[in-house]
Amino acid sequence: MKRHAAHVVWFKKDLRITDHQPLAAAALEGSVVCLFIHEPEWWATPECDGSHRIFLSECLADLDASLRQLGVRLLQRYGNATEVLDRLAAEIDITSLWSHEETGADWTYRRDLAVQAWCREKGIPWREFRQDGVVRRLKDRNGWADRWQRTMHRSLWDSPEHLHGPALADDHLPSECGHVVSTKPWAQRGGEGVAKPTLDAFLYQRGVDYRASMSSPLEGWSSCSRISPYLSWGCLSMASTVRSLEERLATLREAALYGACVDRRWSGSLRSFASRLRWHCHFMQKLEDEPRIESENMSRACDGLREDFTDTPEAHRRLEAWKNAVTGYPMVDACMRCVQATGWLNFRMRAMLMSFASHHLWLHWRPTAVFLGRHFLDFEPGIHFSQAQMQSATTGVNAVRIYSPAKQALDQDPHGHFIKLWVPELADVPASWLAEPHRMPIDQQLAAGCRIGINYPPPIVDHATAYREARLKIAVLRREPSARQEARTVFLRHGSRKRQSARKSDEKPNLPKENWGQATFPFNFSE
Ligand SMILES: Cc1cc2nc3c(=O)[nH]c(=O)nc-3n(C[C@H](O)[C@H](O)[C@H](O)COP(=O)(O)OP(=O)(O)OC[C@H]3O[C@@H](n4cnc5c(N)ncnc54)[C@H](O)[C@@H]3O)c2cc1C
Repeated sequence: MKRHAAHVVWFKKDLRITDHQPLAAAALEGSVVCLFIHEPEWWATPECDGSHRIFLSECLADLDASLRQLGVRLLQRYGNATEVLDRLAAEIDITSLWSHEETGADWTYRRDLAVQAWCREKGIPWREFRQDGVVRRLKDRNGWADRWQRTMHRSLWDSPEHLHGPALADDHLPSECGHVVSTKPWAQRGGEGVAKPTLDAFLYQRGVDYRASMSSPLEGWSSCSRISPYLSWGCLSMASTVRSLEERLATLREAALYGACVDRRWSGSLRSFASRLRWHCHFMQKLEDEPRIESENMSRACDGLREDFTDTPEAHRRLEAWKNAVTGYPMVDACMRCVQATGWLNFRMRAMLMSFASHHLWLHWRPTAVFLGRHFLDFEPGIHFSQAQMQSATTGVNAVRIYSPAKQALDQDPHGHFIKLWVPELADVPASWLAEPHRMPIDQQLAAGCRIGINYPPPIVDHATAYREARLKIAVLRREPSARQEARTVFLRHGSRKRQSARKSDEKPNLPKENWGQATFPFNFSE
């Protein structure tokens, strides 16, 4: 019997049909198989959580429905990528393999190398296309931001009008992978069909107060865009997101031109949003350029800073209290419980959680970042590990930011609604004591039904002492010549520069001059 020949479009973290170059380009060539591989290597990663798998299955169901409307279905196979491709090659003639490039964790990099070798051995061309604004084999960061702008203004790829291809059977998933229980009742739902309305609701309604309220965990819930899991899983392409933003800006400009009353908050809010879309790729570019930062300090001068403490019983006790949201700092505990139930938290509170673990508790960023990665529905290794290191001062170049959890509670949750929502032990504590309930006099504790040490723990560490000690240790380290040299290396490698730099490599980049170690990036990425 004559074997079917087809182009295989391999979907990875690009689960959409709109603006999908590999799909659009392969469709022009003829018969296609649209393939998704359920990879056991992903399930085995410490960041993979049931909520990710549920979100993924929703994305796949949505993608399958879209593909069916075009004439084919999504083929779902299980196993190691090269084994799956081997089996597929036994069923059909694979004319070529089409996919997006992926900037992922180490296992995806090794997997892609294996697939590359497999394609070479079989003589099957693998056509990979750039996704977002991340550039492979980038020589340096000169002109990166300009290049990003150009990439975002390319033409979008229309989804194909019709697809055809052979009918193949899905794999049955092994029983241990079948039923997944969600621990996140309020997690966002997956799929391209939900992604675009989420973005539009932000651009046309929810986002008006974005700039002012993004740092509040309660208001940020609805005034932030909430598109992060859709960007992470590729339900939205970055270029189409930027296009939607520009269309919205055009409608606002037009409305203003015709004398309509336009809420002035839109302009600042949408400008802040635009910067963050660029940051998304800026952070991912760091992992693309230096994959080791997933597990090693960005500045090697920071090696040994927290490592000695990591395996002590005290470090284990602190880590468990932080994970279990019983640190005695209500804002920290509320944020941790929120993220574990919803899979989302706004930027400021993520930064505070990470900074608290690294500075107050002096824990190494790797186990805490892995734990948060498991609970963030939008887990994106390139952003996540770079941000974790930034908040832990192990990049060696960013300003050290140590948040006071009490101040964050007063600033971002002055009425205590967020804390009371997630820490019911404190439900009857008056708002004025919520930032630091351990300071409540005993009669107030009794009146509020919350005895510190019985119903809610005392602070795990003293803020002022922990703050002072962390700052001192980092300052001492950053004064070392080796730390300054590392800061310079990190900046040259990862600092985003708009224009080509005329400097020779042995000249200092244009950082504030006082002190290398204290220097901040030209852009302040923390809000
Ligand atoms: C320790 C830590 C870990 C983080 N881990 C992740 C992660 O795994 N995945 C992830 O997408 N974001 C991560 N962020 C960045 C940021 O907190 C989230 O992108 C944001 O909270 C998601 O909500 P949103 O989509 O409503 O964002 P919005 O504020 O509406 O921003 C729009 C988009 O811009 C991008 N973005 C926003 N802020 C940043 C930022 N500071 N750096 C890079 N990109 C940004 C995201 O893609 C986001 O979806 C992390 C931040 C910190 C401090």
